[in-house]
Amino acid sequence: MNRIKLITFDLDDTFWDISPVIIKAELSTRDFIEKHIGKQEWGSMSDFLSYRQDLISQDPSFEWDIKALRKKIYENKIQSTDLSDDKKISLTNECYEFFLKLRHDVNFYDGVYMAIERLSKNYSLGVLTNGNADIFSFEIGKFFDFSISSVDVKSNKPDKAHFVEAKNKYKDLRYEEIVHIGDHPVNDVVGASNLGINPIWFNGNDKDWPEGSISEPIQFNDWNKVTKLIEEHYE
Ligand SMILES: [Mg+2]
Repeated sequence: MNRIKLITFDLDDTFWDISPVIIKAELSTRDFIEKHIGKQEWGSMSDFLSYRQDLISQDPSFEWDIKALRKKIYENKIQSTDLSDDKKISLTNECYEFFLKLRHDVNFYDGVYMAIERLSKNYSLGVLTNGNADIFSFEIGKFFDFSISSVDVKSNKPDKAHFVEAKNKYKDLRYEEIVHIGDHPVNDVVGASNLGINPIWFNGNDKDWPEGSISEPIQFNDWNKVTKLIEEHYE
C-alpha cells in the first residue's frame, strides 16, 4: 500500500452545506442592489439559472470564473440605470463584495475542524474547489498548505487540472500518494480516481453510490470518523 503524503479536500457540501448559504447570500444581495437602484424583476430560480447558462454560452470562461459571471449578472442589472459609468463599476464591485462576504457565512459540519487539525500533523493538506470560498479566510485555513480554485486552473473538476496542479506542488509526489475527499461522485470521486488518486466520498446523506463507471469508493458520513478511516486504509 502506498504511503499517503497529501490529502486534498473539496469545500462546498463537503465542509459545510452550501445551498442555504447561497440562497441567503443571493436574496440579500438582491435587496442590497435594490436599495441602490430601486425595485428589480428577478424572475424565478429556474429563470435565473437559465440566464446564467445563457451568459456561459456567450462566454465559456464564465464556466470556471464564477466571480466574473456573478459580476456580469450584477453589471447587467445596474447597466439599465442612469448612474455614471464610474458609479456603475463601483456599485458592481460593492455588490460582489457584499455577496462574497455572505457566501463565507457557513457552518462547518461537526468534527471538520478537529479532523483537519489532526490530519495536518501527518499530511500536507490542500483545497481543490470549483467554488469561490477562500479557506484562508477561516481560522481552519492555518492547517492548509495551498488552495486551488477553478479560476486558478481555468477549468472545473472533474477535469484533471486541479489534481495535476496539486500534485505538481510537490517534487516527485505521485498520484497514488494523494487522497482526495469530496461530496461529489463525479467531480471529486471519479475526477480523482481517473488519475490514480485515492478518492474518499463524503456521503453525508447516506446515499447509494450512483456512479457505475467506478466501483463504490471508501466513504464516510461523519467528520468525527475520518481520521480513523484514513488510518485504517492508508497507514
Ligand atoms: Mg462539493
